[in-house]
Formats: sequence, structure tokens, C-alpha cells
Amino acid sequence: MQSQKKIAVVGAGLVGSLLAIYLKRAGHRVDVYDRSPDIRTVEFSGRSINLVMSDRGWKALENLGLEQEIKKIGIPVDKRAIHLGSESLNYQYYGKEGEAIFSLSRGILNRKMIDLAEAEGVKFIFESKIWDVTLSTATLHEGETERGEWHDLDYDIVFGADGAFSRVRHRMQRQSMFDYSQDFLKIGYKELHIPANADGTHKLDKNSLHIWPRGEFMLMALANLNGSFTCTLFMPHEGLNSFEQLKDQETLEAFFAKHFPDTKEVIPNLVQDFFKNPTSYLVTMRCYPWAFKDKVALIGDACHAIVPFYGHGMNAGFEDITVLVEMMEKYGDDWETIFDEYQKSRKPNADAIAELSYRNFMEMSSKTADEKFHLQKKIEKWFAAKHPEKWKPLYSRVTFSHQPYSEALAEGDKQNAIMQEILAIDNIEQIWDTEPIEHRILELLK
Ligand SMILES: Cc1cc2nc3c(=O)[nH]c(=O)nc-3n(C[C@H](O)[C@H](O)[C@H](O)COP(=O)(O)OP(=O)(O)OC[C@H]3O[C@@H](n4cnc5c(N)ncnc54)[C@H](O)[C@@H]3O)c2cc1C
Repeated sequence: MQSQKKIAVVGAGLVGSLLAIYLKRAGHRVDVYDRSPDIRTVEFSGRSINLVMSDRGWKALENLGLEQEIKKIGIPVDKRAIHLGSESLNYQYYGKEGEAIFSLSRGILNRKMIDLAEAEGVKFIFESKIWDVTLSTATLHEGETERGEWHDLDYDIVFGADGAFSRVRHRMQRQSMFDYSQDFLKIGYKELHIPANADGTHKLDKNSLHIWPRGEFMLMALANLNGSFTCTLFMPHEGLNSFEQLKDQETLEAFFAKHFPDTKEVIPNLVQDFFKNPTSYLVTMRCYPWAFKDKVALIGDACHAIVPFYGHGMNAGFEDITVLVEMMEKYGDDWETIFDEYQKSRKPNADAIAELSYRNFMEMSSKTADEKFHLQKKIEKWFAAKHPEKWKPLYSRVTFSHQPYSEALAEGDKQNAIMQEILAIDNIEQIWDTEPIEHRILELLK
């Protein structure tokens, strides 16, 4: 048990609110500040970004006994449904039978997490903007405007869970020896909407992540509990097949008719949604260190914002919490060591999931439509079933295991090199599931 500290968490997002529950249960006094209004009072009628939760996220909830409660607001998704042309649909299962990721509305999940944290005794202060922090004393500076009057809020420890554009990190960046990089992707995204059928049922299979892979761009859709789907169109901001080109109703409708003909029936408000919803940017942000002495630490997107193509931003943030709590249990009141071991353990893994996420855009937007890629997945699945102790596919390592991301990435690269040799074998399409191929893979694994 640790001695009680007065702790502030900046950011009542998914990571901040879950962290607050852990800190409260560890016996601390916990206040959470967020610049936005209380999300429980904001009308969003269930239409918000949805995200997928997988094993790493579930573990952080399971340790608190909250997993089952959250599963009730999610939909299991066990496969990709690949929309190739107007009619044809391919299914690619994510893992073994019974393995699934869960589609959750970010807004509904966030509301639930805040409710749960409040029930534990965490105090939330909404519409409270934190502009700066004095690192040496863990003092927050809060005020209505950046240039207006600020109030000081004194704490023993401050966590910056204030997302990709964190003000807490901003202060740490002004320290010498602080590494920081930010890379915007040339691809942006826009949300569209597939409403429910009149009887409240889903228009597409709700247990699939739907992808329309088109090379440089793609559309995807994930089910919501109310029968609708949230769709996300990912495409370049500029150039051929880009947001910049879809300037008016005519070009937009012609573009969708050409590339996504089977969506005509299911996205009735395409034009309205497209021109109403913003085009958003995607960024990878890396930084180090994540902590200042025993006073201030960053967590979640505030220290590792990644692109969304592996569905792991929140999962990685939740895993940060699992590791932080392990260190709290190990090092008791020695917060400087807790923070130091936490950042050393997490940094290589945050870098690895950033890399995997970046690469996964190509897998989703191009390879899912590629014959050789399908064959590779088939061979991997077949071999893994025969030798489960020797082969776990990369997606399963990342999504259905707790293996550190950095190890998963390294193993995945080795496996991919082996598969490229196998795919280059003459006639592989006919002989992929034969004994010689099995032996060749075993040999290459040695
Ligand atoms: C399109 C898209 C799809 C995604 N899909 C997935 C997915 O499928 N699976 C997955 O795991 N992840 C996914 N993610 C990533 C996931 O959304 C983020 O990793 C996660 O929300 C990060 O949580 P966080 O609490 O660290 O930060 P945030 O959710 O950004 O929360 C930060 C909070 O801090 C508050 N705040 C910010 N600045 C201040 C300040 N100065 N003062 C006070 N409060 C402040 C904000 O109001 C906010 O409430 C996706 C992201 C995107 C963009």
C-alpha cells in the first residue's frame, strides 16, 4: 500500500478516467481536470468515433473487475468483411475461433468510465483549462484563457493524460534533452454514417469490420449498438483521389458510384454528411522522457499519439496504466523509480505500435484486396494450427496477446521474411498446404 498522495490527472478522456480509478483504489486523493464540458451532458445521439478494444485494453479493465460491464456496451467483431467490387464480399477471420475485438462508441465508453470513476470517489472538474504546469512542484495553472488570469492548483503528483496536443507535455518539451517529433500523414479522414434499418437492425453484418480497400484510399465501417454503423473514409488530403478533389455533390456522387457502388443503398445522407463533417488529420507523435522526477508523468496519447490503422491507440494507453500500476506495486512510495521504470518499459513498445500502425494502412487499403496476401494469411493460419507453439500470426500477437509490442514487431518481421520465401516457391497456389511446405517453414524457422 502506498502513502496517500494528492494527485491531479489532466484529461478526462479514456486513459485519464481509467487511470483515476486505479489511483483512487490505490488510496490516493484524485482530481481530474478537463477543458471540455462533461461528456455525459453533451448530446451526441450515439454518433461518435467508434473504436475497437482488444486484449490489452481488456486486461486493464479486467484487473479492476470492470471488463464484463464494458463488454455490455460493445459488439464483438471477429473478422474483416472485404468489399471488393459491387457485389463480392470476402471474409478474413482475425484469429482463432472465439477470438474477437470489440466495437465501442468512444463517447459512450467515455461517459461510462467517468461514471465508474465518480462512483469510486474521483472528483471531476470540467470546463477547466490547464495551460501550464510547474514541474518541480507539480502545480497546475488553470484559467479561462491563455493570456488571462490563472489560478495555481497544488498537487503532490500530476499526470498528463491530455491527449496528442498535451499542455503538460508542452511544458516538458521546454526542458533540455527532451526529444520530440510530430509527423502528419498525407492521409486524412472523414466520418460518414450508415443508419439502422427501420426495425433497428444493422444494414450490414455487425460482427465484421467492413473495409472497402482501394489502394491509396479506403472506406471502413464499424457497428454501433443502436443498429447504425460509423464509417470512416481515409484518403489523401491532396492529389489524385483526394479530399481536395471532392468539392461538389456531382464529383462526390460520381466518385462513390465508381469506387464504392454497394454503399449507395446504405449511406443515404452521403452528400449531407460529407460536406457537414470535418476532414481530420492523422498524426504520429513521439517524445521522451515521459516523466519529470517523482512529480509529473505523461500517459496515453499525451506521450505516444499513433495513426489508427491497427486500432491500438487506446489499447496502448490502457496498457501504459497496467505497467504503471505494476511499478506502483513493486516500488511503493518511490515515485521517481516508478516513473523511471514505467517510461523505460513503455517507450520501445510505444514506438513499435506506432510503426505497426503506420504499416497497417497499406495492409488494410491494398493488401486485403491482394491474392498473394490472402494466400499468405491462409498459409500462416494453416501452419499455426499445426504448430501453435511455433507460429502466432502478427495480428494475433498484437491484438490477442500481451507480448510486448516491440517483440511482436520483431517476430512479425522474421515471419514475414519466411513467408516471402514460401510465396516465391513455384506453384505455391497449388501446394501451399502440403508436407514439403510445412517442412520448409520449419527449416526456415530454425
Ligand atoms: C479515427 C480514429 C480511430 C481510432 N480507433 C481506435 C481503435 O479502434 N482502437 C484504439 O485503441 N484506439 C483508437 N483510436 C485512438 C484513441 O482514440 C486514442 O488513443 C485515445 O482516445 C487516447 O485517449 P487519451 O485519454 O490518451 O486522450 P484523449 O482521448 O485525447 O483525451 C484527452 C482529454 O484531455 C482533455 N484535455 C486536453 N487538453 C487539455 C487541457 N489543456 N486542459 C484540460 N483538459 C485537456 C481533452 O478535452 C480530452 O478529454 C482512434 C483514433 C482515431 C482518431
